[in-house]
Amino acid sequence: MNGHFAAVGDAPNKAQYGHGVQVIDEDKEFNSNLSSYLVATDVAESGFNYHLISVFGSQSTGKSTLLNNLFGTDFNVMSETERRQTTKGIWMSKNKTTSMTDNILVMDVEGTDGRERGEDQDFERKSALFALATSEVLIVNIWEHQVGLYQGANMGLLKTVFEVNLQLFLKDKQSTPRSLLFFVIRDHIGNTPLANLRNTLIQDLTKIWSSISKPQGLENSRIEDYFDFAFAALPHKILQPDKFVDEVKNLGKRFVTGNRSAKVGERELEGGVFLPEYHRRIPADGFSVYAEGVWDQIVNNKDLDLPTQQELLAQFRCDEISREVLILFDTTIGPLEEQQAEASRIGKPLVLADLGETGKQIREKCVKAFEIQAGRYHKAVYARKRAELEGKIDQRLKTLYQGQLTAAHKSGVASFSDAVSGDVKAGQKSGAAYEFAEIVATEKAKCLEQFKTEVQNLSIQGIAWTNFNSQLVLFEKELDEVSARLRKEEMRRLATRVERWVKSRLGDAVSVEFNKLGSGRAGSGAPEEGQKPPTEKDLWDRIWNVFTSVVKEAESRFTDRAKSFEASEAEVEVGLWRLRRKSWVALREKIDEEVMEGNILLKLRENFEDKFRYDEAGVPRIWRPADDIEGIYTRARESTLTLVPLLSRFRLSTTYAPPDLNTFIGNQPAEAEAEDEDDLAPIGGVDEEDGKSLEEEMTVLSEGKRQDLVVRFKKMADGVYVEAKRSAIGGVSQ
Ligand code: GDP
Ligand code: MG
Repeated sequence: MNGHFAAVGDAPNKAQYGHGVQVIDEDKEFNSNLSSYLVATDVAESGFNYHLISVFGSQSTGKSTLLNNLFGTDFNVMSETERRQTTKGIWMSKNKTTSMTDNILVMDVEGTDGRERGEDQDFERKSALFALATSEVLIVNIWEHQVGLYQGANMGLLKTVFEVNLQLFLKDKQSTPRSLLFFVIRDHIGNTPLANLRNTLIQDLTKIWSSISKPQGLENSRIEDYFDFAFAALPHKILQPDKFVDEVKNLGKRFVTGNRSAKVGERELEGGVFLPEYHRRIPADGFSVYAEGVWDQIVNNKDLDLPTQQELLAQFRCDEISREVLILFDTTIGPLEEQQAEASRIGKPLVLADLGETGKQIREKCVKAFEIQAGRYHKAVYARKRAELEGKIDQRLKTLYQGQLTAAHKSGVASFSDAVSGDVKAGQKSGAAYEFAEIVATEKAKCLEQFKTEVQNLSIQGIAWTNFNSQLVLFEKELDEVSARLRKEEMRRLATRVERWVKSRLGDAVSVEFNKLGSGRAGSGAPEEGQKPPTEKDLWDRIWNVFTSVVKEAESRFTDRAKSFEASEAEVEVGLWRLRRKSWVALREKIDEEVMEGNILLKLRENFEDKFRYDEAGVPRIWRPADDIEGIYTRARESTLTLVPLLSRFRLSTTYAPPDLNTFIGNQPAEAEAEDEDDLAPIGGVDEEDGKSLEEEMTVLSEGKRQDLVVRFKKMADGVYVEAKRSAIGGVSQ
């Protein structure tokens, strides 16, 4: 996360921080540049792997000089000629030597004793609080000759430190962090061994501790409950410069990680100064915010409550980290959201490629990134903010995923429908028999598999909302609905084919029967052996028989085929019912065609001529004047005229009644939908509400047509007769 802060051209850079950064200025203002300083010095990204040291001591006791020599820093020091206070407020600089632990931050605190600030005990107290709240190690810089001067300025400072320490950690009972007080004794002459100086100091410290008033409940607390001690002595820098340098070097070796076993005595520390228990556990990237919050409390004289500060910090930082993580999320997911929105705006379903994988990865990446950075903060706050972040991420993924499934659903259904129709068309084109049920099953399996894959891809293990099995069920249901619709269409196509077949078969068969009328000898011709010769009287019986057998065959064709694509019983029932109706209508049309004026007149003429021009043996007559032309003519004419009433009505010779059309067609199946019947012509006697009776349905020639036909036939017969008469006379004259 620090990468973008440290980009070239950004404001903070190491050069501008040559002297470190002023954390608190002389007006007690906090400098929020601290955060960019930590970024510029690469401390911000160190997590907990950093350390904080503060230095305390009277004015002009060489504190800044010590720090600069010890840590390679460049804090301002008093020039030897001016002797004026230089360090103002609190400065911070990162350790520049390479021999120590990484990321040591050193705070140079304005000296106390108030020579130039007058009796400003206030700042002393505030800076002590600030240092204690943040630092692991407090270096107490003291002249050798001040040791044992119990009333000296240093002791006042230590009293302040102890008091604020009690105040500070009163609230923080769980962690009670310890601090190391590291006494550096300056201008050590060497007459008094360090051990003696240390004893004197410890005595004084104990005295001070017992003298301070302790808050309720902490009356019996001991100094070692809060502090460890360490001691070092340095020779006079100006008088013994070489020795000073050597000793500083030795001292520097102690600024490494230590451990408890190195402890000598109950309250003292030797060896590495950085013990884990000194660490304030403020992640480096949140240090600036934390320090600012702490300072704000201090400067406004509020009770400094570190646990609360840490919670506030956690909230602030977790929110910040969350925002950064969401930016990362945005760069990946934002464009996909836009694509999806655009697609839905133009109403074109868009299935985003690899969305499941992308979503899963970015979710994991974001949560992981958050965990790494925010996980160092206050546990409960972190857990809550993490849940919030996951909620935000999931909300957006959810919308995206649902859009994805809607698109996959739509396009899946469309491509299923297209594929089935396409396969059917291809099947029809090839002319080969195709199995509709098979096509549906194959295409359904394909589409279902595709959708299933999408559902699986979108699912993230352990995340309940990514289980989309119910959508899969819905999808399959819709495919079945589409299948049903397509099957219905297929039924229609089948019905059309079968109807066409019925029409063509009826056309031929009915024509044959009517053509037989043309032969007047139908009743007396030479029939085949053993077969009852067809008579004109059973014309309708034969037509009905042909009709019913054609329809029967058509029904079985239809049923077989429909069953093959898994049509339901009910669907087949409806189909057959429609087929019978349509077949009847087709028959009726065919009959009408046969009895059209010209056609039927021609048939009657043929019938008549057959009887008139041929004798019983089927030999053409040569008319002679003596022949009973008139008698033969009259008989033939009357015989043919008997056909007219016969032709006028569809009647079976056996019952002399119309066929039972109603029974033949059957009741309308309950499943036949109203819309299906739109293309069905009404049938008299069957469709009651139609108002047309069965008698009317069976009327082939109306009364008027019949009379007209008789008149025209007679005229025609008369013509034939006259011609015969003439030919008889002509034959005589020849
Ligand atoms: P600070 O105010 O405590 O930060 O003190 P400075 O580091 O600015 O130094 C104050 C003065 O003490 C300067 O003039 C230094 O030269 C001088 N000084 C630094 N180190 C020593 C030392 O070890 N012994 C003595 N006697 N003077 C020192
Ligand atoms: Mg100084």
